[in-house]
Amino acid sequence: MKLPPVDYEAPATVSEAVGLLAEHGDEASVLAGGQSLIPLLALRLAHPAVLIDINGIAELSGVSANDGYVAIGAMTREYVAEESGAVAEAVPLLAAALPLIGHEAIRSRGTIGGSLAHADPAAELPAVALALDAEFVVRGQAGERVISAADWFEGYLTTARRPDELLTQVRFPAAGRGTGISFGEVARRHGDFAVVGLAASLTLSDGAISDARLAFAGVCDVPVRATGAEDLLVGESPSAELFEEAARRATENLDPPADLHGSSDYRKKVAAALVRRGLRAAADNAAERQ
Ligand SMILES: Cc1cc2nc3c(=O)[nH]c(=O)nc-3n(C[C@H](O)[C@H](O)[C@H](O)COP(=O)(O)OP(=O)(O)OC[C@H]3O[C@@H](n4cnc5c(N)ncnc54)[C@H](O)[C@@H]3O)c2cc1C
Repeated sequence: MKLPPVDYEAPATVSEAVGLLAEHGDEASVLAGGQSLIPLLALRLAHPAVLIDINGIAELSGVSANDGYVAIGAMTREYVAEESGAVAEAVPLLAAALPLIGHEAIRSRGTIGGSLAHADPAAELPAVALALDAEFVVRGQAGERVISAADWFEGYLTTARRPDELLTQVRFPAAGRGTGISFGEVARRHGDFAVVGLAASLTLSDGAISDARLAFAGVCDVPVRATGAEDLLVGESPSAELFEEAARRATENLDPPADLHGSSDYRKKVAAALVRRGLRAAADNAAERQ
C-alpha cells in the first residue's frame, strides 16, 4: 500500500529537529532508517501528521570508543556498528547480536537508534541494551536527559522518550577482562525476528563468576532481565548443574505470549534451552578472554 499523505520536514541539525518536535509533539514521527516506520505507515498502523526525517543530520552518526564505554549516534546504521572495530573490541555482545537483525539490506538502512526507539520486544538490540545497562541520551528543548536501559523500555513499542525528545546517542559499557558473551536465538528462518532470544554475559575472576547478565527477547512486551538467575550465578564456578538451575530460575516466572510461531509453553522451553546454551558459550568465551 502507498503511504498516507503526510507533511515532511528534513532538519539538518539536532537543534532544528528538536525545535520541530517541540512544535508538532505527538503529531510527529521521527523517520530514521524507515525499516519499521514505513511499513507501519503503509499498513495505516501509525498516523503521524508530520514526518521529521533525521537522515540528513550528520552529527547523529558515528561510533566512538571512550573510557569505559562505546557511544553510538542514534542514526548510525546497523551495518556500520556491525563492521566497527570499536564495537567488536569493547562491546562483543552487541557485535554478536547485530548480524542476527533481519538481512543485510535491512541493516544497511536500519539504525541503532531506530531499533531502540522502536523497542520491539522480540528485537535483538533491546535485549543487549538491557543486559549491558546501556544509557540512552535524549534531547528536548529543555536540554538533555540520560535514561538507563532499566527505565527505557516501558511497554510494547513504548519507551521513556517523551514525544518532544529525540534519541541522540546510546552508550554501551565496555566489557571488562574475563568477560565472555553469547547472543542466541531461535527464529523460524534466518533473518526473521526471534521467537525467543537471549543476551548472555559472564565475567570470570579466578575461576568464579563475578558478574552475570541475562536478558530475554520475545518473552514479554518488553525485554526481560533474569535477575534471579543472575544472583544465583554470581560467586559460583561454571558447571552444567549450575547452568541447569539458572535456566530453571530464569524461566520459572515467565509467562510468554502464544502466537502462530509457538505456544507459551514452547517459548518457555526454548528460553530455558537458550539459557543453558548461552551460559555455556559465554563461560567458554570468558575463559578465552582471561
Ligand atoms: C523484513 C524486515 C526484517 C526485520 N528483522 C528484524 C530482526 O530480525 N530484528 C530486529 O531487531 N529488527 C528487525 N527489523 C527492523 C529493523 O531492525 C529496523 O531497522 C529497526 O527496528 C528500526 O530502525 P529504523 O532506523 O529503520 O527506524 P524507523 O523505522 O525509521 O523508526 C522506528 C521507530 O523509532 C522512532 N525513531 C527512530 N529514530 C529515532 C530517534 N533518533 N529518536 C526518536 N525516535 C526515533 C521512529 O519515529 C519510529 O517510531 C526488520 C525489518 C524488516 C523490514
